[in-house]
Amino acid sequence: MKLSSICPGCGSPTVEGLCKRCRLESTTLLSCPPRVEVISCPVCGAQRLRGRWQSVDRPVEVLVSEAAERSVEIYRDLANPQVTLMVSKRGATRYIAEVELIGEFEGMPAEDRCTIAVDLRYETCDRCSKMAGRYYEAVVQLRARGRSLSAQEIEECEKIVLSQAEKSLEKGDRLAFVREMKPVRGGVDIVVGSTQMGRLTARSILDRFGGRMRESYKQVGAKNGKDLYRTNILVRLPRLREGDVVVARGTVLEVRGYGGRKTLCLSLMDGGRAFLSEEETDAARLLGNRSDSQKTVVVDMDEAVLEVLDPVSYKTISVTKPGNLDVRPGDEVEVIGYGDDLVLLSPL
Ligand SMILES: [Zn+2]
Ligand SMILES: [Zn+2]
Repeated sequence: MKLSSICPGCGSPTVEGLCKRCRLESTTLLSCPPRVEVISCPVCGAQRLRGRWQSVDRPVEVLVSEAAERSVEIYRDLANPQVTLMVSKRGATRYIAEVELIGEFEGMPAEDRCTIAVDLRYETCDRCSKMAGRYYEAVVQLRARGRSLSAQEIEECEKIVLSQAEKSLEKGDRLAFVREMKPVRGGVDIVVGSTQMGRLTARSILDRFGGRMRESYKQVGAKNGKDLYRTNILVRLPRLREGDVVVARGTVLEVRGYGGRKTLCLSLMDGGRAFLSEEETDAARLLGNRSDSQKTVVVDMDEAVLEVLDPVSYKTISVTKPGNLDVRPGDEVEVIGYGDDLVLLSPL
């Protein structure tokens, strides 16, 4: 290396212009704002970042340290930069973050430090203020066709609603909350903060139970020049429930599931499958439900007929043997009674 000049800063020999040491001295390695702010909801702990609220489940100290870290700027040509942060509390809403930076400046070890005041500001978030203000966008009305919802269906639907609320909130739908679940004649009304979440809930319920969904809107006022609407989402479950045993299409069927608006059944005579339309389910004669079945014993049998003990009267009753049922005398079977008759269930 040929030393052709001297440094105008310190007078040391150098190649050209300022020497390395003087260049380091005149470079800002770490720039920090004197003060930053963390905006946090006192009710739920959400944080407002770049104008948007988001749910967080980190303690305030972590938010403070993240805010300090976000606010610092490091000289872009510093090699192997390493930042260390120390946060300490100085008042009810004031924290001090001490920032230390080490790295390499043109091959020389270099360091810098700064102090940032971090103020915590409490502000009720969009979601909490809307929840407190009794705000809601939609009502999911759960009903069933031609009957009331069973307690078990209501319980399962409520679980679906709560889990959808959680999922939607995680995905950033700030209004995904359940305001109220109120029992009404024949079903339940679920009042929700977000229409989008209401729709997703309705779809999950349809996936589980089949049925139909219908949406309607109602204008409820205006705010800041924008019309405000409430959405009604009517979900009507099919007339027949899973496990219902019915007479339809001239045979005895058990409901095993749903495919859109069709009710999927299994024949208790020959084991075949049948998809009943809404009209067919309306006309079907309901004999009972698998949940009310009783166990009994096969006494005797031939190709087509089983003799079983009536679990109530202990008389021997003949029942048609389902084609796919493999039993021997002495075996236990499940039956449901209707009138003086019994229907034999196929294994699930
Ligand atoms: Zn110099
Ligand atoms: Zn909040």
